Amino acid sequence: MSQTMTTERGKRTEAKTYKNYIGGRWVESKSGKTFTSLNPAHKDQVLGVMQASNADDVNAAIEAAHKAFSGWRHTPAPARGEIVLKAALIIEQRKDELARLMTQEMGKVLKETGGDVQEAIDMGKYAAGLGRHPHGETVPSELRNKWCMTERVPLGVVACITPWNFPMAIPSWKIFPAVMAGNTVVFKPASDTPIIATKLVEILEEAGLPGGVLNLVTGSGADVGDVLVKDPRVQGISFTGSTAAGRHIAEIAGHNLKRLGLELGGKNAIVVLDDADLPLAVDGALWAAFGTSGQRCTAASRLIVDKKVEKDFTDQLQERAAKMKVGDGLQPDTDMGPVINEAALKKVHEYTEIGKKEHARLVHGGDFAGSEGWFYRPTIFADGRKDMRMAQEEIFGPSTLVMPVSNLEEALDVANSTQYGLSMSIYTNDLRKAFHAMEEMQSGIVYVNAPTIGAEIQLPFGGVKNTGNGHREAGTVALDEFTEWKTIYVDYSGRLQKAQIDTGE
Ligand code: NAD
Repeated sequence: MSQTMTTERGKRTEAKTYKNYIGGRWVESKSGKTFTSLNPAHKDQVLGVMQASNADDVNAAIEAAHKAFSGWRHTPAPARGEIVLKAALIIEQRKDELARLMTQEMGKVLKETGGDVQEAIDMGKYAAGLGRHPHGETVPSELRNKWCMTERVPLGVVACITPWNFPMAIPSWKIFPAVMAGNTVVFKPASDTPIIATKLVEILEEAGLPGGVLNLVTGSGADVGDVLVKDPRVQGISFTGSTAAGRHIAEIAGHNLKRLGLELGGKNAIVVLDDADLPLAVDGALWAAFGTSGQRCTAASRLIVDKKVEKDFTDQLQERAAKMKVGDGLQPDTDMGPVINEAALKKVHEYTEIGKKEHARLVHGGDFAGSEGWFYRPTIFADGRKDMRMAQEEIFGPSTLVMPVSNLEEALDVANSTQYGLSMSIYTNDLRKAFHAMEEMQSGIVYVNAPTIGAEIQLPFGGVKNTGNGHREAGTVALDEFTEWKTIYVDYSGRLQKAQIDTGE
């Protein structure tokens, strides 16, 4: 089904209508309302018309997930894994098509959207394998003729609420392990990338996931997300997004004693010491600051550089940034795509004004880059200090701040001076300094001689301080967020044995 729309600039355009997926059926919202998904590189291009869902839709989705739980939980884990694996293989087959669609809907360049899709493939294959892994352990008892063991059990209905910057990878990090563990899911994707989210759900349906196990409800955080997290039938919430929204959700979840995994904001830093391989550090800084137009939770928005090499580093970085081509991510010569929407563009520019007021020195960029889409030039400020707002607040755009320091201790003090702690990196050829930084950096992820971005799914991902609440996604702990431990004791002695009292003789 498609609809004819008139864009803000009066252009008439055809766009496909996408639906919610509830209880195994594609359905319209009971609200009768819709919203559009736009191409950030061509803001007049409407990619799709989406359901602006309301509380009734959320209720129906939770009900469907609740009903499906018993059947799904009793489906053997290896059989659940087969479906997840099949989904990963379908994604693999369609990787190029999905990457192109993602570039259109989210803006990042094709190579990067290919990486995003690849993360979903990797996570699918990894999670599928977990179906044949041990889901518990046996532990010796202190008593004779008594058997003790543990078992992972699913939580029940889980809400997966996701942002737009990794529109396939992040939902996959949540949905694949969640269903693998036997939970049923209500998925609320970000409103800037609902089409790619719909594709993921279509693929899981094609892979054979039974109706009700995964339900998709599109719409705003206030109308959909909030209702979802408040519902008592939802036992677990896995949320990735801003610290502000995460804190709000945490209050609700805390009050209702729900399981909650939070992956929130970052203000990541690269430390460059005077003995570092400078061109390597510049390469890393450029990629970490401007990859995904700086819209990665792990983007390096602070470059903490030893004064002895700071000028050289900043000059080289400026030279490289000046050569970057900003434009439509589908074009092969584009280095950096647009930011996600108008509000993001305004926010990035506001921080340019803030930086100037704070007397940071604008070295490059600081301005819009064309009006066809939401484009901003790669922006570099120098002379940063840790008390600046630019050095403390998450900008989430192509803007980075060079901060001069005198030695490693000062670099670590500056690096640790924000409320966040997701990813940090150090460039040095001194092994002792590298190990000292690894120990002292208050960060969930640390890189040595590599930029702050580049996580791999077989390792845990997440941050400390206000970046989260202690949970990790992916890696060997991928199932922790989505399971409870059940401890089981079997006494086959035929008599009452008292732990801690009887000796087991
Ligand atoms: P956001 O918080 O605005 O939205 C994230 C999701 O939450 C969206 O689906 C949104 O609709 C929903 N939401 C918003 N308010 C809600 C509420 N009150 N109740 C329930 N749901 C609600 O974040 P965003 O702009 O989409 O993403 C950018 C942020 O995400 C940045 O802060 C970035 O650092 C963070 N992020 C973190 C990680 C990580 O792993 N730590 C990864 C990617 C992005």
